[in-house]
Amino acid sequence: RGNRLGRVSPMCGIVGFVSSSTPESAGHSALDVVMAGLTRLEYRGYDSAGVAVIADDEVEYRKKAGKLSNLIGELEADPLPESTIGIGHTRWATHGGPTDRNAHPHVADEGRLALIHNGIIENYAELREELLAKGVEFLSETDTEVAAHLLADVYRHAAGQDLTRAMQLASQRLEGAFTLLAVHVDHPDRVVASRRNSPLVVGLGEGENFLGSDVSGFIDFTREAIELEQDQVVTITADAVEISDFRGGPAEGKRFTVDWDA
Ligand code: GLU
Repeated sequence: RGNRLGRVSPMCGIVGFVSSSTPESAGHSALDVVMAGLTRLEYRGYDSAGVAVIADDEVEYRKKAGKLSNLIGELEADPLPESTIGIGHTRWATHGGPTDRNAHPHVADEGRLALIHNGIIENYAELREELLAKGVEFLSETDTEVAAHLLADVYRHAAGQDLTRAMQLASQRLEGAFTLLAVHVDHPDRVVASRRNSPLVVGLGEGENFLGSDVSGFIDFTREAIELEQDQVVTITADAVEISDFRGGPAEGKRFTVDWDA
């Protein structure tokens, strides 16, 4: 994919979704929305895929090397519970080979937090050393897992368990290119995301909101969108979208309506 510096190179696919209602009360299934988005994003190319939901106070995830059909097979063999919140990822491996283990999501905070990432964390080696010294155990070879554990560490020790604040603080410390999405069992009503040198778009629904690495991630569900600008954090719930800069100051993205057909 050429540009290893990752400044503006297109990364693979990211989708996030949160809703106020379950399919029983006419809402969308989080998993269906996320899988539809990942399918739309397949054109970007990828080597692995994964999804996470929160149900019954647990993060549950499945991830598989290879095509989305592998992940679908895994989900059929070992289904995920129904949920109102979900994140999904297609990976183009840059750090660590395309294996199940290196696929995203990566979990931290004893499995209570899940994170997905498009891009490259350029200072991952020094952050990894710092986290290893604090006793963190790594399960993959990815730069992404460093971001997951950094976020968890900041969440616990610097951000007063405020996930948005934690994302702001963690993002300040990450160099390179990243679109990050995270969920935490303490906050099952929200997906928190961040971007630097890598794209992120919010999709606005009714009683539901979306995130995508591009609008294809949610074009089946809404055409109302907000493109985030450089170094911004966004928190979506079913009814609200809150954007800030990395220091926590208020910020705005660019509002637009998608006027092309998928
Ligand atoms: N650098 C990350 C990895 O290798 C993310 C790659 C991507 O953009 O999919 O896992």
